[in-house]
Amino acid sequence: MKGEERVIYLDNNATTRTAPEAVAAMLPYFSEYYGNASSIHKFGGRLAKVVEEGRAKVAGFLGADPSEIIFTSCGTEGDNAAILSALDVCPKRRRKIVISTVEHPAILNLGKDLERRGYTVVKIPVDSLGRLDMDRAREMIDEETAVVSVMWANNETGNLYPVEALAELAHRAGALFHTDAVQAAGKIPFKLRDMNIDMLSVSGHKFHAPKGIGALYVRRGVRFRPFVVGGHQERGRRAGTENVPYIVGMGVAAELAMANFETENNYVRKLRDDLHNRLIAAIPSVRVNGDVEHRLPNTTNLSFEYIEGESILMHMDIHGICASSGSACTTGSLEPSHVMRAMGVPYTAAHGAIRFSFSRYNTQEDVDTVVEVLPGIIEKIRAISPYWADFVAKR
Ligand code: PLP
Repeated sequence: MKGEERVIYLDNNATTRTAPEAVAAMLPYFSEYYGNASSIHKFGGRLAKVVEEGRAKVAGFLGADPSEIIFTSCGTEGDNAAILSALDVCPKRRRKIVISTVEHPAILNLGKDLERRGYTVVKIPVDSLGRLDMDRAREMIDEETAVVSVMWANNETGNLYPVEALAELAHRAGALFHTDAVQAAGKIPFKLRDMNIDMLSVSGHKFHAPKGIGALYVRRGVRFRPFVVGGHQERGRRAGTENVPYIVGMGVAAELAMANFETENNYVRKLRDDLHNRLIAAIPSVRVNGDVEHRLPNTTNLSFEYIEGESILMHMDIHGICASSGSACTTGSLEPSHVMRAMGVPYTAAHGAIRFSFSRYNTQEDVDTVVEVLPGIIEKIRAISPYWADFVAKR
């Protein structure tokens, strides 16, 4: 990959660059201190302290106690572990899971699987801005509910959801509350010790730790049944040899995220807003997807109407610009994402949705390049789009 042209990476909700500081801290644990943290001998056993240091850093980052942190392999594992545990520990008459229509597949597809196993899964709808219908939430969360799981921040739109109000509804009904905070962690400030959340999952690779490490927070006093069963690691709550290098990497990434939280998020927000405003000004028929008043500082989702997002992505790729569309390439047809469909985004806009997501490693030059290049790309694609021609003819 070395020597290739400059990459303008605006796909940080998909994954982030591992912070160089995290990489440097991890390296000795691959080749020098490669022992097993659960060993009796000193060579391995002393790594238990390193694991606990990593845990303390992640706990500090989340505003939790270290004993409330379980290391996992990824966000998906945390999501699965939390819901399955909640179903196991609750009274058997509670067979209902309440989620939202805009969850990540880590929750949505688990929900489908649970339905096949006889559980009831209900989804709280959202409006055209992707805001949760809290009246429906109140109706849905009841005495039969085992667990409510609603994401803190949406990966496609960046929308933020009222997790504390939802936790309150869950608790009133005697249910547990879990949130998928994979996109929220490191991007919005919170301290779990001051909140009413029972379980929360995060993923290292969304905040500059490597891929393959995550954490599940389980509030002290909340019963938990392990998802990965085997050895006694993680105090019997998650089996499998501790991934010492990645735990070290996640600890450093968590420290970095905390150290410059305000400055970095303001910096990222400024870049995001600049791109957002200049693209809307420069390109006709752009629709904003999501709730701009309540969203992550690093994300914007724009639909370039009457053309395909995939086509836009491919043209941007030629210029080294990386972003995402919400579409899932299923069975050969490009379906708009479930998030766009849940929001009722019109067909002609849902197909042209592009998500731009920033991190601390982006620069003003990145924004300037996209603003320079994208209007021409959109014009070129629209010139051969029958939908655009039709729209222009009817205007
Ligand atoms: N939840 C959300 C909201 C996400 O955005 C993602 C990843 O994109 C996940 C869960 C899954 O995380 P992981 O890739 O660590 O399994």
